[in-house]
Amino acid sequence: MKHDPALDLEKTFLSYAQAYWADRGVSDDEWNSHTWQLKNRITTLEQLEEHLELSEKERSGVLLSGTKLAMAITPHFFNLIDREDPECPIRRQVIPRVEETWTSPYEMADPCGEDDSMPVPGLVHRYPDRVLFLVTDRCAAYCRYCTRSRVVSGAGEQELETDHEAAFRYLEEHTEIRDVLLSGGDPLLFSDKKLEKILERLRSIKHIEFLRIGSRVPIFLPQRITPELCEMLQKYHPLFLSVHVNHPRELTLEVKEGLERLANHGVPMGNQSVFLRGVNDDVETMKTLVHKLLMCRVRPYYLYQLDLIQGSSHLQAPVAKGIEIIEGLRGHTTGYAIPQFVIDAPGGGGKVPVNPDYVLQQNSERVVIRNFEGKTFEYPEPAVQPDPLLDY
Ligand SMILES: *Cc1c(COP(=O)(O)O)cnc(C)c1O
Repeated sequence: MKHDPALDLEKTFLSYAQAYWADRGVSDDEWNSHTWQLKNRITTLEQLEEHLELSEKERSGVLLSGTKLAMAITPHFFNLIDREDPECPIRRQVIPRVEETWTSPYEMADPCGEDDSMPVPGLVHRYPDRVLFLVTDRCAAYCRYCTRSRVVSGAGEQELETDHEAAFRYLEEHTEIRDVLLSGGDPLLFSDKKLEKILERLRSIKHIEFLRIGSRVPIFLPQRITPELCEMLQKYHPLFLSVHVNHPRELTLEVKEGLERLANHGVPMGNQSVFLRGVNDDVETMKTLVHKLLMCRVRPYYLYQLDLIQGSSHLQAPVAKGIEIIEGLRGHTTGYAIPQFVIDAPGGGGKVPVNPDYVLQQNSERVVIRNFEGKTFEYPEPAVQPDPLLDY
């Protein structure tokens, strides 16, 4: 196997604390404070150019981002960028490029058709028993390929007009809803108190069994995962958290500590990666990522094919490559480490699993299957004999 020394480094949990900020007199207390991190986010071209040399494509991208999806990068996450590498996988995720203003005929402002599935503003009810509740339009940092860039960050024309009270009433009336997923924007940007009010209200609804939060805060802003936050969350179990990590470098020492703290407070965690060209579109990177996630007690949950969001084609990797990656994991590593690859069907069909084909032939008598090494096997179906006791 090819030895890639760069990947060896990515396999370990490193700290990138201070880095570009080290000579600016930032104290450890400031650095470790999530309010300091938020206040000192990189949001302008000037701030960005203090630290990095930008390409022309990035420069124009940053200038144009103000009318679409704002740029914001926490100092913590910014430090993961490798200045020497113009194709750095961290850089591609958060620094705008001019390609964001290019749109193909297939691309949409609302690729998953969410706006058409909102019975009340901010509540997406697509599946029979669960809802997506968009509680805020703000994130700690903005992913350039955001599926909800039409409403997130405050820069675009459309606004997220969530009516919290109407949403709670809808949830109270719809007794078929047993699972509420809080997302946005990022719910963990709310203060503990504000978030607790929402969780409390949801827990007062008897038919809601299961709560989950979708958040990239543990990755963008690990300082926010305080013991107080974890103690608050653990009062509302069963509560799961879905995080969003795309590249192994994002799992730093500080991120690992935050995730462990959540796990220690009984919060089961899954990871939702987005499949991105030049970020995680090869087996070795993905394998390193899923192994590190397990070490942080996070179970890889979904690998998303990129939604057809306007201006994202420079980050789009082929579906065939995604299937190849899943094939490169299944059987070759821990089953717990393997996410389900899905396409969120364009226009609003929901998540559709996409898998390598392991069933080669299937009829009423037998299935022919192949294993991860390509060997084929036959499995006979049960012979259909009438059973006087069973009615089929
Ligand atoms: C992804 C999603 C969910 C949750 O789906 P799971 O497969 O249960 O994780 C719920 N509602 C909407 C609209 C979604 O996009």
